[in-house]
Amino acid sequence: MATLEKAVVKGLAEDRGLYMPEKINKLPQAFFDHIDGLSFREIARNVADAFFGDDVEGEALRKIVYDTLAFDVPVHKIDENIYSLELFHGPTLAFKDVGARFMARLLQYFVVPASAEDGKAAPINVLVATSGDTGSAVANGFLGVDGINVYVLYPKGKVSKIQESQFTTLGKNITAIEVDGVFDDCQALVKNAFMDEELNAHMRLTSANSINVARFLPQAFYYFNAYARLKQCGVLKIADGKSNMVMCTPSGNFGNITAGLFGMRMGLPIKRFIAANNANDIFYKYLQTGKYEPKPSKQTLANAMDVGDPSNFARILDLYNGSWEDIKADISGATYTDDDIRDTMRECYNRTGYVLDPHGACGYRALRGQLQPGEVGVFCETAHPAKFKEKVDAIIGADIEIPERLAAFMRGTKQSIPMSKDFAEFKSFLMSR
Ligand SMILES: *Cc1c(COP(=O)(O)O)cnc(C)c1O
Repeated sequence: MATLEKAVVKGLAEDRGLYMPEKINKLPQAFFDHIDGLSFREIARNVADAFFGDDVEGEALRKIVYDTLAFDVPVHKIDENIYSLELFHGPTLAFKDVGARFMARLLQYFVVPASAEDGKAAPINVLVATSGDTGSAVANGFLGVDGINVYVLYPKGKVSKIQESQFTTLGKNITAIEVDGVFDDCQALVKNAFMDEELNAHMRLTSANSINVARFLPQAFYYFNAYARLKQCGVLKIADGKSNMVMCTPSGNFGNITAGLFGMRMGLPIKRFIAANNANDIFYKYLQTGKYEPKPSKQTLANAMDVGDPSNFARILDLYNGSWEDIKADISGATYTDDDIRDTMRECYNRTGYVLDPHGACGYRALRGQLQPGEVGVFCETAHPAKFKEKVDAIIGADIEIPERLAAFMRGTKQSIPMSKDFAEFKSFLMSR
């Protein structure tokens, strides 16, 4: 058992396992009865209180939540019964902004007062491996936060130019490290760093991957908001604490969907979940066979989901006491090739005018294929399509607009440190800091 502070600062437990909340508090029925009258921030504050209220002082927690959610997460109707939950209105145009901004603020709450008391503030070092959007969200979430340094490790040549610009052009307390390898190599370097005694004696390290509870739990906020906004429009059938809302989450490391599953445990009336995968189909296969068999990740169009051994699978297993039957009862799977993704983006654009990004396209397609009569489906549109502009333009045959906050990143200068996938090199680099 560990305090919230320890779980947030350490990231990974001593036994290399993931931290889980000790208990999951249910929210009162009155909250769900009136949720449609609350704003996103008010909803999130209630949810945050249930998760973190015992460990974080009330007004400080309110401020962390309100600062984090400086943007909206609206639902957009696409088909008669299918809605897009637009998670891309934050600073880096992807859902990871929510968790990253929350984590930066919570970490500051825990570590900055302590180090100020010392007189000599030992900086805390955030190590983060990214296959695309994590790096930009974390780097921007922490940019300019005193007493915290961020190291972003990313696979050379495997993230888009736009993604790269969002974490290599920042400078200040953000260092980008370009690893000659794939995402799993980056993740292995980070995990090894946490386990290395000498390195940990040299510097305070913490993780900001989706394994950190302060990053993945706040992602539950917007599932509650999706429910509230659909309830507000009167499109849901709700009775006896149940609803006909189906949530579909495009998944890679499975942090996002796990947060949604926590929401369901807190009483959020979601009927069931769909985990939509690209060609990295480890979870899909698990649902079919009951066997979890990690594989090297495959490169796909939806590259932020190119994960061959999803870290948060362990949390899902734990949440369901290891029961394959219970997991299957709540979650179904889907897996799509790059051709499927292209077809879906084209079909949706031509028929509805809505531009999907390659990740959201997996979610949309899974709802089109699996939604039952009488159900209402919401998929997470996890990133703005302009983040993948070249691909998206070529696929749908259009010239989509680049939002100004994205264009601003692209005007910056790339600064990054080349690194092999060999842990010894990474370690000596960190030892020299
Ligand atoms: C990270 C990411 C995903 C996958 O989310 P997980 O929490 O790792 O399952 C999906 N889409 C986009 C755009 C992402 O950046």
